[in-house]
Parts: sequence; structure tokens; C-alpha cells
Amino acid sequence: MRYIEPHGHMVSRTTDDYQAMVTAGCVAVCEPAFWAGFDRGSVSGFRDYYRQLTEYEPARAAKFHLPHFSWLCLNPKESEDLALARDVLAIIPEFLARPNVLGIGEIGLNRNTRNEMKVLEDHVALAVAHDQLILVHTPHLEDKLKGTQLILDVLGAHRGVKPERVIIDHVEEHTIQRVLDRGFWAGITLYPDSKSSPPRAVDMLEICGRERIWMNSACDWGVSDPLAVPKTALEMRRRGHSEDFIDAVLFRNPHRFLSQCPKFRIPAGAGA
Ligand SMILES: [Zn+2]
Repeated sequence: MRYIEPHGHMVSRTTDDYQAMVTAGCVAVCEPAFWAGFDRGSVSGFRDYYRQLTEYEPARAAKFHLPHFSWLCLNPKESEDLALARDVLAIIPEFLARPNVLGIGEIGLNRNTRNEMKVLEDHVALAVAHDQLILVHTPHLEDKLKGTQLILDVLGAHRGVKPERVIIDHVEEHTIQRVLDRGFWAGITLYPDSKSSPPRAVDMLEICGRERIWMNSACDWGVSDPLAVPKTALEMRRRGHSEDFIDAVLFRNPHRFLSQCPKFRIPAGAGA
């Protein structure tokens, strides 16, 4: 089988994980900028991180013949210092033309605060001004429904946002349909303990259909599984879904969304 890992925080993974992903059929990995487990204290800290995402990590992935792409932003958790956020957003355009950068992400909300909303709006404006794809993080647990609605409202209020160029990630049963109904793409994150398990993810596909949906493992520094996407193929097979269905969800869907950025290219022979 072939699949794309459209949302994996590879800077926190080992080379064993790269090897296992490629062996399982991964043909491309995309890495959104995210929180490092601590708040970075300076603009230069973010500049170094963006260099890691656009220089070092693609080179590390290339050792395993895996194309690596990235998304850039300031994570919602780090939005409370508005002066720092403003200065960080100002350096992002320096990196947007780099060959592996697909867009702005993962932006969004964490605790749905006023400052997070301001920085979300600034990111959306930045993405529209530079004609970038957008990848959105939605809050956890009890904040998810309210946060998702706030995010949909921010995106809907900006006339330059094209819903087909936006993916809203970490959807769950109570948020997926309202994301799809507004014309956006929806991402299902597969975690061992929280967000969605493979059976819950396949339930959502069976209820909502397979259009404009992708699956990802996040595979960050917390409890997570870099093989969660191919393991979900097993759950689909167990329920009798066809290989074409699996290929559509795990490869063709993310390929279609990501190909809206002309820089997203998978080498011939690697499944595309
Ligand atoms: Zn993430």
C-alpha cells in the first residue's frame, strides 16, 4: 500500500521511525510548525526552528528517500505574547518561497483566548496575502466544539479565504460534519489515547463519506504512533472496505489537497 503522512512532527522522531514509515508505504511526509513542549523565548528561536523545518529535516528524511514538506506559523499556545507573535509573523515570509514549504500551519486555537483569536486572524491574513494553503489545529476536548466554531467564523469572515484550500485538523465526531458542510477539508488525527482511534476514524468515514477527509498520526513528542495511518488501513480492511477505498483516503485525498501547492511533488515511482 501507499500512503501520505500529511501531519507528522518529525523533528521529535528518531530515524527508526522514518525507516518504519517508509517500510509501511509512506511516500511523503508533511510537517506543520508546532509547540516545542516549551515556549520559545525569542524571534531567533523561531528562525532556527523554521530553518530546521526547511533545511535540516528534509535532508534527514531524504536519507530514507522520503520527500519532506513543511508548514510554517507560530503555534496557538505561543500566541499570548502579542509583541513576540507580531515579530515572528514578520519573518515567516522570508521562508515561504523555500522549496518544501506548503503553506501556513498549524494555526488555530488552543484555549480560545482573545490573544489567540488575534494571532489566528493575523495568520489568516498572512496566508491570504501570500496565496498560501492553510492548515488549522482545533482545540482539545471540552474546548473543541466552541473553538472549531470560532475558527470557522474567523475563516468565514475573511473574503480572501477559499475553503477548498483550508484543512481543519483534529476533527472529532461532533465537529467533522460542520467543517465539511462549510466546504473545508477535515483531518482526523489518530492518537493512542486521545483525539481519534482507528475504529472511531473509520466510523466517521462510514457516516460522513470519504470526500475531503485525510488522516494523520501527528507523531509528535507526546504519546503518539508514527504508524497510526497504515494501522488504520487494517481497520478498514477488517470492516470489508476495498483497497480502492483505502487508497482514496490514505493517498489520493491528501495528494489532491496538497497538490494545490505546486511545490508538492512526489517522485515518479513513489506511488504518484
Ligand atoms: Zn500537530
